[in-house]
Amino acid sequence: MLEVTDLDVSYGEARALWGVSLDIHANEIVSIVGVNGAGKSTLVNTIAGLLRPAAGRIRMDGKDISRVPSHLICEHGVAVVPEGRRILPHMTVQDNLDLGAYRHGARASRTKRLAWIHSLFPILHDRRHQAAGTLSGGEQQMLAIGRALMSDPKLLLLDEPSLGLAPVIVDTIFDVVTQLRESVSVCLVEQDINRALGISTRGYVLQEGRIVLADSSQKLLANDDVRRACLGV
Ligand code: ATP
Repeated sequence: MLEVTDLDVSYGEARALWGVSLDIHANEIVSIVGVNGAGKSTLVNTIAGLLRPAAGRIRMDGKDISRVPSHLICEHGVAVVPEGRRILPHMTVQDNLDLGAYRHGARASRTKRLAWIHSLFPILHDRRHQAAGTLSGGEQQMLAIGRALMSDPKLLLLDEPSLGLAPVIVDTIFDVVTQLRESVSVCLVEQDINRALGISTRGYVLQEGRIVLADSSQKLLANDDVRRACLGV
């Protein structure tokens, strides 16, 4: 479904990704793990159309999306939950969710999708009339995921969903992400290798802008090199 081939990305003169290749199939959860600065957000932001690759190709269902700008990427079935969530704090929870449904094809199924998202995260129904900025960090992460799902994506890119959240909240969010696999593929970018590899089928280890290991999540979890690359132990 998603194919990334030989991707090079730079910030000015500084290269951040070197020949990155990966693929994600339908109904898969795939982890991308690595330490701070390994290039995880750069990879997500490039797939999301926020950064232009210097070289390489990104294809979604065979179509080249390497140069599709971020505001049109959802038309290709890709939805992003960025690091830091970026919800609109003064708008209500409901209005934030509705923003996710602006994609042309998603408007018709809005009511059905909303009911599904409320069933995944009941708190978003209970708090639907509240300003989003009054939600806790965990609830805001749920809202950011719900908003992305409103666009009816085939692929959900999650950038560090556990960042800054209490373990019990992370458990709830990861339980829901596990359930999503029936409806959508997930690319899970995380520093928490145990949690990410614990719910994904496959994983890639990113180190200094390069993919250094790719394997089943089970094998990566048992591999000491992964701990060395991701935790420095
Ligand atoms: P984190 O977990 O801290 O977000 P990461 O694995 O997502 O780390 P990136 O944020 O993609 O890593 O950073 C990869 C490299 O690119 C790092 O060396 C970083 O300093 C550099 N970088 C990231 N954003 C910029 C930018 N806007 N301008 C210049 N260099 C950047």
